Order: sequence, then structure tokens, then C-alpha cells
Amino acid sequence: MKKYKNYIDGEWKAFSGKRILIVNPYNEKKIAEVIESGKEDVDSSVGSARGAFDQWRTMTQAERSRLFLKLSDLIEKQKDFLAELESENQGKTVALATADIEFGIDNLRFFAGAARAMSVTAAGNYIDAHRHKKHVALGTSILKREPFGVVASIIPWNYPFMIACWKLAACVVGNTIILKPSSLTPLTTLELASLVERTGFPKGVINIITGTGEKVGKMLAEQPGIDLISLTGNTETGKEIMKIAAGNLKKVHLELGGKAPFIVFADANLEKAAKYAVEASIINSGQDCTAASRIYVQDVIYEKFIGLIKEIAKEIKLGDPGKHNTNLGPMASSQQRAKVAGFIKNLGKNEKVIYQSDIPEKGYFYPLTIIRDFEQKGNLCQKEIFGPIIALAKFSDEKEVITKANDVDYGLASSVWTEHVERAFRVVNALKFGEVWINDHLPLVSEMPHGGLKQSGHGRDLSVHCLEDYTYLKHIYVGLL
Ligand code: NAD
Repeated sequence: MKKYKNYIDGEWKAFSGKRILIVNPYNEKKIAEVIESGKEDVDSSVGSARGAFDQWRTMTQAERSRLFLKLSDLIEKQKDFLAELESENQGKTVALATADIEFGIDNLRFFAGAARAMSVTAAGNYIDAHRHKKHVALGTSILKREPFGVVASIIPWNYPFMIACWKLAACVVGNTIILKPSSLTPLTTLELASLVERTGFPKGVINIITGTGEKVGKMLAEQPGIDLISLTGNTETGKEIMKIAAGNLKKVHLELGGKAPFIVFADANLEKAAKYAVEASIINSGQDCTAASRIYVQDVIYEKFIGLIKEIAKEIKLGDPGKHNTNLGPMASSQQRAKVAGFIKNLGKNEKVIYQSDIPEKGYFYPLTIIRDFEQKGNLCQKEIFGPIIALAKFSDEKEVITKANDVDYGLASSVWTEHVERAFRVVNALKFGEVWINDHLPLVSEMPHGGLKQSGHGRDLSVHCLEDYTYLKHIYVGLL
């Protein structure tokens, strides 16, 4: 069993004597031990990041970007090892873990290039001589993007490695960083530290510490030496962090929960929509903030669509996530499985389970479950379940489905399925979500922002817009006379 320490100031160290055991959710075996960090670990990581900031921010963008490119090359060489480890620790299939890591590599390469091409309003001479009561005045205004300083980034357990890569965006533009993975799934983030070490980043630029959210995450939010805190996690955690960060007015960057509608009109390509509806509902065993968790189907095709969904779902193979013919692995933890089971035990009176798959004997599996006629005001529609559940309900017209789709606390992702271009755009324009797909569901790309509104938070990951989130604008005025 591998024993990891924290990665602070370019060294592996631990001040705290407490440890957390990491379990493989498929065979329930203990696979590693990590540090349950204490105050000294947190303070030391902040001191290290603070100490490295001046050197890092004054390097040229080309130098910082070059290190990012080198890191992405090293990750690529270790891709298979990292994918297997992610699968062992998180429970997702190796195929999905490989796709996550490939996306992470592309994200880092994109950040490296985009950071060199960031733009602001053109510099110019804007001074109004009369307002300043001078006969003659001449000055040039320049806008500059500056890094904030020390960023702490808190990572969830559903996409550990990929989201660690997203959070490194803060670093490419000159901030130094402390990454805290979830205490359930820290292993690939810790392995990332070894690659950071081999890349040759200056000491202290990237620090990785482990521990529980309630303790270590909270300490990071409280720490006055941190300038910006970024969280991808659930909405309640986001509120908690925002409250604590208000104490010292830290900037917060929040990517929180979701409850994505998947809207199917009668004129959609039904075979394609049904296939994607299944995939998008159960991706990562449903533990995905953009998963299609509410499928609205137009009434005239409702029964036919349910039939198609059932046929496709029956072909899904649950089992060993390490095997290439497995479609669905276990839940990431026994707590998450219990949470899903709790929701399904307490369904509304009109909500009917119409299919449940078999599950393997061991591991934290929850059966793939299809539920019809979910209730708009019920938990299944309103709360984030995060399990392999396909939930369907019918609607009769455009106006009704737009109202229902928007009628949740979340605003992260959504999709609309129709062959009618005007309808697609009418619906897209009316949906209040940070991401809307037409005739697809799930794709993210490095070049476009990912993030939401309402209780899904208000930060953006990916794209040049996340680099903007991690910098502040400085107006520099040069008097010329
Ligand atoms: P979580 O909020 O329980 O944990 C996320 C991270 O926050 C972990 O590292 C955890 O240790 C830490 N944490 C927990 N409590 C804390 C506290 N009080 N103070 C500081 N840190 C704390 O979330 P999770 O269960 O790991 O992940 C699933 C959630 O993440 C879902 O709600 C999902 O929708 C959301 N998510 C959102 C996105 C997005 O891009 N919007 C992406 C992935 C996951």
C-alpha cells in the first residue's frame, strides 16, 4: 500500500501525524494512505505559495507556458498509469478515466497558448484636460491583467484529475496554487505532484495537500494568506466557503451542482436522442454535474421513447471498471450509494421504477434504474441525486417545457433535441443555463467556458474566460507632459 505525503515547497512532507485510508470502491480494498493535514500543513503550504509568488509572476508568460507544455507531455507519457489509478480510486471505467486525462492534457496545452494571447481594451490617450482643470494634459492609459497571488483550489471526487488540471489555469497566468483533492479520491492529484516535480516548476508554485473538506478545506477558506479560493463541489459547500471567505473578503470562484434538463421534441432523431439520453444520465455512474438528470419528452412520443431507453439500458454492463467491456463502475463511495438509495426509497406517489439492472455482489454498486413520470416539485426533479438514474416525464408544448426546465435552483447545463432549427433556438434563448447543447449532451471543449448561474455558482472553468477569472485588471496611467 503506497503512503503519500503532502507536496509542499517542492518537497514531500507531513506535519500532521493523522492519516486517511483510501479505498477502491470496486473491491473495497485499502489501496493507499494519505495525510489528514493539520493547521501546520495548511499554513506551510500557504507560506510556500506566498514565497514563490514574486518569482513566478515576474517570469515571462512564455516561460510559464513552456513549463505547462512540458507538464502536459509528462502527463501524456503517464496516461495509462494515471487512468488505471483514477479508475481504482474513483470507480469510473478506465475508458472514462482515459478520456478525462486526455481532456486534462488538452486543457493544459490550451491554457499555455491562451495565456500568451490574452487581450484587453487597447491602450490609448483618454485624459480629459478640462475636467482636470489643466490647460494641457496628455497621458496614456494602459490596462494590464495581474495575477491575484495565492490561489487555493478545492477539488471534488467525481473528476479528480481532470478538475485538478482545470484548476491549474490559475497558475499559468502567474498565481501560485494549493490544490486540495477530495479526501476520497486524492491519488491522481498526488501523482500529478511527482510530474510537477519532474517538470522543473520553481519550488512552491504548485502545492498539493490532502485532508477532509470540513477540516482542511475550511482552514483554506479561513486562511488570510490566500487571495482567491476556487471550489468545484456541491452547492452547500460553496455557500459555506463563501460565508467564511466573506470574513476576509477573499475572492471566490465557485463551480457547483447541476440538474440538467434533456428536452426531447417529437421531431427529434429519437434513436440518437435515446442513446444519448442513456449515456448522459449514467455517465460516471451518474456522478456528473452536467448529467441529464431530468428527461422531458413530448407526450406524443413518450411511450415510444421509454421503450427505446429500456432497450438501450438493458445492454449496459455493470462490473469491474478496469475491464474494457464494462460500461458502468461502482459509485465512488458507500456514502454516495446510500444517498442515492435514500432518494429512490422516497419517490413521489406518481413516480414509478420501471427497470433496475443487476449489480455485482461486491463493490459500491447501485443498479441502473429507470423511473418514469417524475414529479416537477419532487426531489428527483429538484435535487442533485448523483446516481445511475434515468428519470423521465412528459410535456405537451414548448412553453410548458421551458417553464419546467428553468424551474430548479440550478443553472449549469441543459440540452434540447429537435430537427427544427427555429424551435431549437427559441428554446435555447429561453433556457437559463450556462451551457446549452442542441442535439447532444455533455461535450466540453478547452476553448469554451464551463460554468453556471443561480445555485450552480458563478465561476468559469476552461477557455480564456477562466484565465480572466484568475486575474484582476490594473489601470496604469502614464502622464506624458
Ligand atoms: P463536496 O462539496 O462534498 O466536496 C468538494 C470538495 O470540497 C472536496 O475536496 C471536499 O473535501 C471539500 N469540502 C467539503 N466540505 C467543505 C467545507 N465545509 N469547506 C471547505 N471545503 C469543503 O462535493 P463532492 O461531493 O466532492 O462533488 C460533487 C459535487 O461537485 C456535486 O454537487 C457536483 O455537481 C459538483 N461538481 C460541479 C462541477 C461543475 O463544474 N460545476 C463539476 C464537478 C462536480
